[in-house]
Amino acid sequence: CGIVGYIGAQQAAPLILEGLTRLEHRGYDSVGLAVVGAGREPAVKVVKAAGRVRDLGSDLPKRFSGRSGIGHTRWATHGPANDVNAHPHTDEKGDVAVVHNGIIDNAAALRARLADDGVTLTSDTDTEVLAHLIGRSVAETLEERVVEALAAVEGTYGIAVVHADFPDRIVVARNGSPLIIGVGEKEMLVASDLAALVRHTTTVAHLADGEIATLTPAGFTTFRHDLTRVARTAAEVDVDP
Ligand code: GLU
Repeated sequence: CGIVGYIGAQQAAPLILEGLTRLEHRGYDSVGLAVVGAGREPAVKVVKAAGRVRDLGSDLPKRFSGRSGIGHTRWATHGPANDVNAHPHTDEKGDVAVVHNGIIDNAAALRARLADDGVTLTSDTDTEVLAHLIGRSVAETLEERVVEALAAVEGTYGIAVVHADFPDRIVVARNGSPLIIGVGEKEMLVASDLAALVRHTTTVAHLADGEIATLTPAGFTTFRHDLTRVARTAAEVDVDP
């Protein structure tokens, strides 16, 4: 339903929560976020719950320090609206966190295959398979791991991914669900809706279907699934005052 991501010099959690609040008018049943904690051993911390943004607690930014993260408001398609099914979804080690808008059509087959491989699935969602597929990939880069996982998936998605082993980036991908990259001063944002970006920047780039992108504090790079670069520049958007 709604996606917001941030990477830069500021604390990510308050910015993500504020962005998610701006998407509230779209309606949702659950909310959550993942922040990549700084330090010598970066860790992905996740909080999520059925309910509204405010239900995550006003002390959340204090407990979730880190300068990169992703958030989600869910409109359930696979599995009821409850705490476990809320996004982000993680792999078994808790290194990968994924938020997802859309519907993975072959989720049942992928869940069965993962279960056969000994993976414990914790939610009822279609989305969770993506976290496990990315987490199990041994490809060198996060971008390669994401496209490898997406190659197994049929359906629609806008996704944002963080990984403890790649704390300097957020990788996003789109097929049928909008994602907009917002370019700031030494900071980058991503959202499924312009409304979540415009308070921070009006310089944006629309990701196209079939593209993935890497966000770092310094900028963004867009690729096709074969990881060849796509030239895409950000442009100013007019925003109603
Ligand atoms: N299909 C996913 C789920 O049910 C994502 C739904 C959404 O777009 O919010 O969790």
